[in-house]
Amino acid sequence: MIPYGKQNISQQDIDAVVDVLKSDWLTQGPKVPLFESAVAQYCKSQYAVATNSATSALHIACMALNVSEGDVVWTSPNSFIASANCARYCGASVDFVDIELETGNMCVDALKSKLADAQQHQRLPKVLIPVHFAGQSCDMKAIAQLAKQYGFKIIEDASHAVGGRYDNKPIGNCEYSDICVFSFHPVKIITSAEGGMAMTNDEKLAATMCQLRSHGVVSDDSLFAQTSHGPWYYEQHALGYNYRMTDIHAALGYSQLNSLGEFVHQRNVLAQHYDKLLATSEKVLPLVVHSNCYSAYHLYVVKLLDCDPVKHSYVVKKLRELGIYAHVHYIPIYLQPYYQQQGFQQGYCPNAEQYYHSAITLPLFPELSEEQQQDIVDNLLALIND
Ligand SMILES: *Cc1c(COP(=O)(O)O)cnc(C)c1O
Repeated sequence: MIPYGKQNISQQDIDAVVDVLKSDWLTQGPKVPLFESAVAQYCKSQYAVATNSATSALHIACMALNVSEGDVVWTSPNSFIASANCARYCGASVDFVDIELETGNMCVDALKSKLADAQQHQRLPKVLIPVHFAGQSCDMKAIAQLAKQYGFKIIEDASHAVGGRYDNKPIGNCEYSDICVFSFHPVKIITSAEGGMAMTNDEKLAATMCQLRSHGVVSDDSLFAQTSHGPWYYEQHALGYNYRMTDIHAALGYSQLNSLGEFVHQRNVLAQHYDKLLATSEKVLPLVVHSNCYSAYHLYVVKLLDCDPVKHSYVVKKLRELGIYAHVHYIPIYLQPYYQQQGFQQGYCPNAEQYYHSAITLPLFPELSEEQQQDIVDNLLALIND
């Protein structure tokens, strides 16, 4: 079976992990800060807070921005459920902004009209979570402009996008956001097995997130509210969690970072080859990548044109039977039973639903060969014409 994505682990990565196992620290040692500062340097952000997943990074990012009961958080329906769940963890309600069909990213025009409407009803979002779908940045300049106008905060869910660029600057530099979150799950661009990271240029937000990822505890005596009882003393200042990354995971992530540029380059080369193989087909359309974006290409997505949900489902099922693990990203989040219980109904974001019933994710990972790509495309085109 050709998977839709998979990790790429070198001997150097294995050695880095083994070194940690032989060291004094399995967790809370030197590797986590090393990984954090390396990613911050790569992305040109001031601070980085490593966590045990992007999901927990999104949670503490919402907490740091004071998301709580009575607040509303908006995100994209075309994402993994974690982009919305983080707000629910904080007791806030979630709402969804429809996408553009070309890129699968949040539509700025839809955002504009939804904001104007929300202002009238005094239901403006506290935080917006745009998702850089498939590895391409959203239109952050326009979104940041709206954030200023309407007074909301921005968390970029860049789980797909580490190594990508926007206006020739690295995604994660937080030029247009308060916090930007990466995932290092094995299907993503680089991996720490499980892991995530929250980037920010705000010292206070970074300190708050550091506290929240470790039980809400402070151990720096300059921050104590009470007089220290002695060298063992620590204080809990907030209800935090155990969301820490271990040194084992950080060592793997740090080692993988050496390959990030190469991985993203290979993904772009493979994506361009797919584009070429599909260029003559009138029934398949790859997603558009804008010229001011360098996609990290977490996913290679094509849309089937003039295709009904039955046919779409048939093509994906048949590809899998042929050993090609095609996938569909994403089921609109609000169609999940959990969000249906929150009152969302089918038809809420028409573009996200139309897109969902036509999109197919084809396998993409650095080791994929051109022969495999040819085979995938031949089978795809044959099935469409079935
Ligand atoms: C993978 C993913 C997440 C969650 O990442 P984890 O590290 O598995 O918690 C969140 N948002 C998006 C868009 C993702 O693709």
